[in-house]
Amino acid sequence: MATPKIGFIGLGRMGGPMSLRLISAGFDLVVFDTNPDAQAPQKNAGAAVGSSPKDVFDSVDLAFVSLPTPDIVEKVVLGNIAQGSRVKTVVDLSTSGPGMATRVSRGLEPYGVGWIDAPVSGGIAGAKNGTLAVMASGPRASFEIAEPLLKNFGKVFFVGEKAGLAQVAKLGNNLLAAAAMVISSEALVMGVKAGIDPKVMLDIINAGSGRNSATQDKFPRSILPGTFDFGFATGLSYKDVRLCVDEAENMGVPMVVGAAVRQMLAVTNAKFGPTSDFTSITRVVEEWAGVEVRG
Ligand code: NAD
Repeated sequence: MATPKIGFIGLGRMGGPMSLRLISAGFDLVVFDTNPDAQAPQKNAGAAVGSSPKDVFDSVDLAFVSLPTPDIVEKVVLGNIAQGSRVKTVVDLSTSGPGMATRVSRGLEPYGVGWIDAPVSGGIAGAKNGTLAVMASGPRASFEIAEPLLKNFGKVFFVGEKAGLAQVAKLGNNLLAAAAMVISSEALVMGVKAGIDPKVMLDIINAGSGRNSATQDKFPRSILPGTFDFGFATGLSYKDVRLCVDEAENMGVPMVVGAAVRQMLAVTNAKFGPTSDFTSITRVVEEWAGVEVRG
């Protein structure tokens, strides 16, 4: 059997390093991004560059997409795959929510194209190092085709055959990560205002029961040094939490704390803009309290 040709659409902060891992592993890639600069590293590493998403879907057997928002994923996939497209499996690595996963998987059925939603967690460092948590759902036959490729990105979890299940798991994870940013900002700002060295306070929390992904990683890396460059955009975190709270409410699951986290992201987004880093959440609380968490 000929080696499968792999497509990769969306070569941003996550898709860039993930596609490069596949090229390094020896896979034959055709890539595309609307930003031509984003395609250069893959081109230099030996990948072919497609002229459009349609061109990619017409020239590969399996295509990954890693795109910012659910509407973009839906438009790129359903707008460019039709009867006669070569692609047989599409794997969505984006955080795009269960509603869209269900719609797109149904939209692809008439063309015999299998849909796997495989959102990832672990940030840019995880994407570079192949240490992401990769959660996947969709028809088992399609998953078995995708799994050997997904293993290049990190640890793979099969969530179930129903489209969107992996997206639900991912939204829950990202709600927790955003909530940890918000509540840790409140705790650290309080400590600094009282006169505690933030490094000392972080060391205490990280040795105690309050430790979380923000205190262990985001504060030491991006907030204490004042760089606010963790690598995840405020606009994307806001999108994730909005999707999460909306989907939960649709399912009859009220989210009281989730709604507060959503509002904190709305404020951060309005104040610092969607392209700011989501660690800017701390700057909102800092400004309200009139202190800075630096060290
Ligand atoms: P990004 O904005 O850095 O990358 C998205 C890329 O898609 C960009 O290069 C953009 O030019 C390209 N693009 C936009 N519209 C396009 C189109 N119509 N056709 C082709 N390319 C198009 O975003 P990212 O941080 O890489 O995130 C991608 C997805 O992964 C999002 O859904 C995000 O929520 C999710 N995610 C991000 C992180 C993270 O830490 N950054 C972690 C886990 C999951």
